[in-house]
Amino acid sequence: MDGAQFFKEQYEGLANRYVGLTSDIYLVPPEIIGDGSDLLERYKVEFDEKLYFEDSAIEFESPSEYGAGGAGGYTINFLKSGKGCSAVFINENALTPDAAENIKWLWRYNALHHELMHALDFNRQKNFNTAERTMDLVGAEAFADFKTLQHLSSKLSNGFMKIALKEYASNSITMNERGGIRSKIYERLTKKIDAKTIEHWASISI
Ligand SMILES: [Zn+2]
Repeated sequence: MDGAQFFKEQYEGLANRYVGLTSDIYLVPPEIIGDGSDLLERYKVEFDEKLYFEDSAIEFESPSEYGAGGAGGYTINFLKSGKGCSAVFINENALTPDAAENIKWLWRYNALHHELMHALDFNRQKNFNTAERTMDLVGAEAFADFKTLQHLSSKLSNGFMKIALKEYASNSITMNERGGIRSKIYERLTKKIDAKTIEHWASISI
């Protein structure tokens, strides 16, 4: 089995495992995910009210500093018949246009886990407060990164998963180097997993 096939199967397995949390999971072409279109409308997700959360602790350096193009995915939370729901949108390719299929599927898989952890977080109202329409953005990102690294590190006996962990850990370190809110997220993450452990995963030999 090649990497593309492996991660495609893992992606589908992961989607099935969390079907109780959301069955709205969509692979979105990169030119659409970053173009500002309303993904709930575009993918015909039924909802009564789209939820927006404020984090008063965060002041962005510029509107495009966080959440704009190049993201691995988005989770949009909404109310339907009074119930909180999430729809997950995964970027088909957050890498360069000529990226190989295996690495594209690896990142779709990693991004899906990350986004599902946002849906879980929202469901549990851990870093989200629907009644107040507030959230802890740094807390939510650190939670999703923590759960994803923890998940991948539990599957290290598989060679493909080892690469997925190495990629995810390396990306976390790169994000930290970009500064701003990304550094705050990394700082929060390293309260849950030692920075040395993340550095070790990033340098794992494949
Ligand atoms: Zn996230």
